[in-house]
Parts: sequence; structure tokens; C-alpha cells
Amino acid sequence: MNNEKIDKLLLLNKKNRKVLIDSLRKTGISDKILDIIDKIPREYFISQDLYDEAYIDKPLPIGNRQTISQPYTVCFMTELLEIKENVKVLEIGTGSGYQALILKMLGAEVYTVERIEYLFNKSQTAFKDFNLEIFGFYKDGTTGLEEKAPFDRIIVTAAAPNIPEALIKQLKINGIMVIPVGEKDCQKMLKIKKIDNNNFKTSEHSTFRFVPLIGKYGWSSEN
Ligand code: SAH
Repeated sequence: MNNEKIDKLLLLNKKNRKVLIDSLRKTGISDKILDIIDKIPREYFISQDLYDEAYIDKPLPIGNRQTISQPYTVCFMTELLEIKENVKVLEIGTGSGYQALILKMLGAEVYTVERIEYLFNKSQTAFKDFNLEIFGFYKDGTTGLEEKAPFDRIIVTAAAPNIPEALIKQLKINGIMVIPVGEKDCQKMLKIKKIDNNNFKTSEHSTFRFVPLIGKYGWSSEN
């Protein structure tokens, strides 16, 4: 990262960021991830009037009725994904680009898909500003990203009514998918390991509330 704007933002709320990181550490998030949280100013993704709230552990608006996820949620999903150097990751729901940047900084090769053009364009700028090579696509992610499949990891950062079949197909054997599944107002976080083409090991984690996954194999509308 060598962007002056980013360096400046990093200085604004250093103390608040540290308090947030300390509280995330207490929940069991590893230092490897927390070191990255300390390098990406959350202010970058939100409007200036919200800067004071940048390090409160909650989602914040990023435009088009979408949100940058709660830091705890981002960290928790990242832990579940078991990112290792050079794993090929597909993210559905680029949003601000914050989660994608974290995955990239952990050493993953990152492909990310967004269905809202405005957010897609903004995230492209973010990836340039942070000087990281992340492959962004503007499309409905409920059909996955066939042309770049298969993936070692898949992360869905919007609420799915069920697990899109295409995503299961595009996951490698021994690959891991993390996806919140459930109703529009409450979802269970699932971690799915693909044992072979017909067998999966699924673990269920706590409940979360994401914006809806909208598309061919998601919800048909926001309400
Ligand atoms: N990972 C993001 C979270 C963004 S919120 C971050 O770090 O900021 C979820 C995003 O998923 C929204 O931007 C929404 O537009 C997007 N989304 C919803 N349905 C989608 C779909 N079918 N394909 C791609 N993106 C989708």
C-alpha cells in the first residue's frame, strides 16, 4: 500500500482501531488477521460523516442500501475459510471490497463478484488505491464464476435462501465454502467442506444478519 490517502486515513482513528482490535482478539480472532485489520482504514469505504463510527463493531452503509460487514463478522468468516498462501478464493458480494482486500493480504488469489454496478466500480478503484491485484467481476454471483472455476475457497457475504448448486459444483474437492443461509432477517453461518462430489461435511455456527443475496439462485428482490 503506498497511497497517500490511505496513509492519512490510517492516522485518523488509530486509538479506536486499537480498541476494536483488542476486543476482536478477546473473541479468539488470530493476530494474523488482526494485523491486517490494522492496515486497512475502514474510513476509506464509508462517508466522512461516519468516520467516528468506523471502528464500532457494526455494519455501516456503503451506498445503494448495502453495507460493509461488521468487523467481527469479516474476521470470523475469514477464520472459518482457513486461508493459506496462494489458495484460489471466490467471493460473492464484493460490496466495499474490504473482505476481498483482507483475503488478498492473507496471500490468497482473489476473484470477487458484485451485482451492483456502482459498488463494482467503486471496489475496482479501491483495489487500485490499495495497490493489490484482485480480480473483480460485475455479474450475478449466484451462478458462481464458471470461467475461473474451480476454487479452493468460496465465501458468500450476502444472505442466501439456500446453497446455490453452481457454487458447490465450482468448489474443489477438499475445498471450503462459508455461507450464511436462512431467512432474510436471520441466517446461520455454514462452513461446508467438500469431501467428494457427493459428500460434504457441514458445520453450523452462530446466527448473523446479512443483506440478501439477490439473483437467479438467490432471493428475487430485497423485500
Ligand atoms: N464483502 C462485502 C460485504 C458487502 S454486503 C464487504 O466487505 O464490504 C453484500 C454485497 O453482496 C452487496 O454489495 C450486494 O450488492 C452483493 N450481492 C447481493 N447479491 C449478489 C449476487 N447475486 N451476486 C453478487 N453480489 C451480490
